[in-house]
Amino acid sequence: MPHKTQQRSSILEVMEELGRPVTPSELLKHASVKSPGLGLATVYRALKQLVKTGKSRKIEISGVPPHYEVFDKNDHHHFFVCEECLTMSVLDGCIGSFNKILPAGCRIKSHEVVIYGECKDCVS
Ligand SMILES: [Zn+2]
Ligand SMILES: [Zn+2]
Repeated sequence: MPHKTQQRSSILEVMEELGRPVTPSELLKHASVKSPGLGLATVYRALKQLVKTGKSRKIEISGVPPHYEVFDKNDHHHFFVCEECLTMSVLDGCIGSFNKILPAGCRIKSHEVVIYGECKDCVS
């Protein structure tokens, strides 16, 4: 169905434009500008499909509602979470030198880093 495909690609476009992880309701707010009449159920369905096809990734961090971002397997990054407004930002790159704090004899396969704080709008 071309209509569904169109909604899905406009949702992906909005994610690309925003360039940061977003919640489904944030996505709905922004995508509604391009696709009036869009509903939250449609956004959820589109996201499910985008995750399934590897175009998007669901980010689940404790204390924060699930966010989604455009998935790029070559783009390794981490997140900053504002504890006040629960906005998530992408950190530029990775410090990545975790080997020296690893228990002896262990090997890293993957890692996640989340920094919590207050964003520039919430610092006062
Ligand atoms: Zn904030
Ligand atoms: Zn990293």
